[in-house]
Amino acid sequence: MDAPSYTPEDAPVPEGEIVIERASTPLDIGPKFNRTVADVVKFLMENGEMVTATQSLSDDMIELFVAEIGAEVRLVDPGEEQELELLKKLDVPAEDEEVDETGWAHRPAVITVMGHVDHGKTKLLDQIRNANVIDGEAGGITQHIGAYQTERNGHVLTFLDTPGHEAFTAMRARGAEATDIVVLVVAADDGIMPQTIEALNHARAAEVPIVVAVNKIDRENADPQRVLAQLAERDLVPESWGGDTIVNEISALQNIGIDELLESLVLVAELEDLRASPEGRAQGTVLEAHLDIGRGPVATVLVQHGTLQVGDPMVAGPAWGRVRALINDKGEQVKEAGPSVPVQVLGLSDVANAGDSFVVAPDEKTARDVADTREHYTRVASLGRDASATAGGARLEDIFSQIQAGEAATLNLIVKADVNGSLEAVTESLKKLEREEVKLSFVHRGVGGITENDVQLAATSNATILGFNVRPDRKARELAETEHVEIRNYEIIYKLLEDIESAMLGMLAPEYEEVVTGDAEVREIFRVPKIGAIAGCYVLNGQITRGSKVRFLREGVIIWKGEINSLRRFKEDVREVAAGYECGIGLSDFQDLKSGDIIETFDEREIART
Ligand code: GDP
Repeated sequence: MDAPSYTPEDAPVPEGEIVIERASTPLDIGPKFNRTVADVVKFLMENGEMVTATQSLSDDMIELFVAEIGAEVRLVDPGEEQELELLKKLDVPAEDEEVDETGWAHRPAVITVMGHVDHGKTKLLDQIRNANVIDGEAGGITQHIGAYQTERNGHVLTFLDTPGHEAFTAMRARGAEATDIVVLVVAADDGIMPQTIEALNHARAAEVPIVVAVNKIDRENADPQRVLAQLAERDLVPESWGGDTIVNEISALQNIGIDELLESLVLVAELEDLRASPEGRAQGTVLEAHLDIGRGPVATVLVQHGTLQVGDPMVAGPAWGRVRALINDKGEQVKEAGPSVPVQVLGLSDVANAGDSFVVAPDEKTARDVADTREHYTRVASLGRDASATAGGARLEDIFSQIQAGEAATLNLIVKADVNGSLEAVTESLKKLEREEVKLSFVHRGVGGITENDVQLAATSNATILGFNVRPDRKARELAETEHVEIRNYEIIYKLLEDIESAMLGMLAPEYEEVVTGDAEVREIFRVPKIGAIAGCYVLNGQITRGSKVRFLREGVIIWKGEINSLRRFKEDVREVAAGYECGIGLSDFQDLKSGDIIETFDEREIART
C-alpha cells in the first residue's frame, strides 16, 4: 500500500477545540488531527517550509497546517498543562478547589492608587508614607521596596507603591490579584481625563471596590463639584449625592483630607471582611524584582496566605531558593511576614517577574525541580514562537563563504528595534537585499532591548542579532560572549543595510566598536533649580567618567544620546566614579529621567575585521 498522502478530505478532522503546544513537531501534531506525520511534513514542504518529522514547528507553520485542514486549535505554551502538575507537586490547591476557611484571620487591605498622570498619585503615596514615619519610630528609614504599610486607628493598610494602572494590568495579565481596593485620584482642577477612565475600567474589570480621591483642592481653579458630576456620569455617584461611591476631597500637597481618606479605606476594608490564613506555607505574588550587584536577585513579594519565614525553600516563577533574609518596608531585617505584608526576599536564584506567583515548597528539591521545569518550558515556548525552519542557515560572518561554495545561503537574523515602525522599516529594507543566492530568514523580530532570550535563540538557531536603537543588557552581553553570538547595533538604517550588503559580498567593513566603559542605574531623581534634573545613580559596572559619551536606556531601548555634563559624589565634583558607588549625574539637555533607567557610557574604537 502507498503511504497515505495528504489530502484534506481523507479523514475527518476531530471536532471541537484541539489543544496544541507551541513548538510541537509533526510527530506530535499529526495524530491529533487524524493525519500522518508524512501528511504534515509534505504539506509544509509544498508550502516552502523544509521540516523534518521531529523538528519543532513555529506558530505560523502550525497555523498554516491547521487552516488548511480546517481544524479549531488553541495554541498553548508548553508547560501550561504541566504547570498544573507542578502546582500539585507544590501542594497548592487548584483554583476551583474548596478551601476550608475556618480559623482565617483578618488581614490588611492591599491598596493600589490609580489615576491620570500628574493628578497626584505619587504625592499622595509619599504623603501617606511620610505621615507614618513621623509618628512612627524615630530613625526608621522607609525604603522604596514596591509597597509599604501604614496604620490608622489600629488598622493596618498596605499600599502598593507603583502608582498607575500599567503595573496593575501587567500583574493581572499574569493572573495575579493582589489589590483589594483601588484609590482613584482625580485632580480637582483637571477633572476626569483619559487615563482616569482607563484606570476606572481596569478597576471595574478586576471587580475591586473604588474609593475616589478628588485631589488638589488647594488649587485656585479647583472645582470639586464638577468632578463629582463627571463621576456621576460614569456611574460613580458620590454618597453626598445619594450614591454609594465614597469620595474624599484632599490635597496631597498640603496634607488636607488624607486622614479622612485613610478612614474611608479602613471602612471599606472592614466591609470587605478580608481574611487569610496566617498558618502554613506562604503563598503570594511578586511585586517587583531586580538584580542587585551586592545582594544578588532581590524580589519584593506580597504574602497573601500563610507566613513566609527565613529559611523557607520557595519558588517564584522561574526562580527558586532558600530565603536568606527578609527585609521590611522600613529597611529592617525580619524573621517572618504574614498575610498582606510586603517584604524583600534575598536568596533567590534568579530575577522573577512582577506578577509571578510565589509559594513556599515542601522542600528545597521540589522548589528547584519546579523552577527548572518552568524555565525549560519557557525556553521551549520561546523557540516555538520564534523559530522558523532555520536549519542550514548561517551567521553574518559565514555567509560569504557559503555563497562562494556555491551553496544557496540563508542568513539567519534576529532583529530587535525600539518601536514597531522602525522594526518594520528595517525588515522591509533588509528584504530588498535578498538575492537568488542569499535568502534572509527572520528567526525572530521584536520590539525592545536585546535580552538573554534573544541571545539564547540566536545561539540555537545560528543567527546574528541586529539591534536598531536598542542595546543588549548585561546578561545578554555576557551570554553572547560565551555563546559566540554576534550582536550588531545600529542607529542609522543605511549603515545597517550597508553592512549586511557588504557581508553578502564578503567585504564586511571594519566596525567602529563601541566599548562600554560603565553603566549606572538611576535610583532617584533630584530637581535642582536652574540646573534641572540630576540622576542619583548607583554605578553597576566599570566606571562613569565626566564628559564621556552616553546612551540613555529605558528597558534596553535607547531613548537619548549625549554626554555626561556633571558628575558628583557628596556634592563634590569628581572626574570619575567606580562600580559599587553612588553618584549624581547631570546630562546635557536631557531631563526625562525615571528610576530604573540605565546610563551607559562608551568609547569608540575601530576594530579591523578578519
Ligand atoms: P502622578 O503623576 O499622578 O504621580 O502625580 P504627582 O504626584 O507626581 O503630582 C504631579 C504634580 O502635581 C506635582 O508637581 C505635585 O507636586 C503636584 N500635586 C500633587 N498633589 C497636589 C495637590 O494636592 N495640590 C497641588 N497644588 N499640587 C499637587
